[in-house]
Parts: sequence; structure tokens; C-alpha cells
Amino acid sequence: MDNLTKEKRSKIMSSIRSKNNLTTELRMASLLRKSSIKGWRRHLPLPGRPDFTWPKARLVLFIDGCFWHGCKKCYKPPKSNKAFWTDKIEKNQKRDRKKSRELKAKGWMVLRIRECDLANDRHAKNWIKKIKTIVGFS
Ligand SMILES: [Zn+2]
Repeated sequence: MDNLTKEKRSKIMSSIRSKNNLTTELRMASLLRKSSIKGWRRHLPLPGRPDFTWPKARLVLFIDGCFWHGCKKCYKPPKSNKAFWTDKIEKNQKRDRKKSRELKAKGWMVLRIRECDLANDRHAKNWIKKIKTIVGFS
């Protein structure tokens, strides 16, 4: 452990989390608007509080930050407190899987887009196409 108190650390973590989320979520929202994809709501009170939800299509979409969700391609554990972070990220991934299962059990289709996929124009376009297909046929 480092010199930070538990409270201070959790404050820092939540500020990083919300800042990153905001940027990627705004990027997604702007892509959806540009592609004329409608019918979405943000942060509905469903399991895991999905970033975007299409209630009519029964579709939820999560934008997963590469660090917090342990992206296989991007995640690198910080140099200090490795054990703490490995444990933390593993717990996050476990929670992600649990929330996805809960949603699916309630009849929702669950999509998870990684932050790095959204940053890649070609990948982002493919995701938009996919969403359009799902939402279009609802
Ligand atoms: Zn990534």
C-alpha cells in the first residue's frame, strides 16, 4: 500500500473513472447522433447502470474503460501496489460478468464496447453498424 488513506485513494479513483467515462460516453453519444440512431437513454436504473439503453429494442450498451475493466489489449498494472490493482480489476471484471448475466436473464441484449475500440474509427463504425441493425429491427 502507499501513503494515501483509503478515502483519499477512492476519491482519486472515482474522479479518474468519471472523467474517462464522460469523454468516451460523449464520443459515443455524438456518434449515435451523427448516425441518426435514436431511442436511447442514458444511465437507466438497470443492473450495472448501462451507459446507453434502448428500451424498445431491449438493448443495453456499456462503454468499458480499458484500465478499469482490464482490457486484454491495453491494461497494464501500475508499477506500485500491483497486487492491489490486480485484485481490484479482477473484481471489476467479475462484477461486469455478473451484471451482464443479470441483464440477459431479464431479456436484455448486452453490448460492451471497449474504450480503445471507440477510439479506433474503423472499429467504432462497425459498432455503430451493429447497433443500427439491432435497433432498426426492433
Ligand atoms: Zn483497450
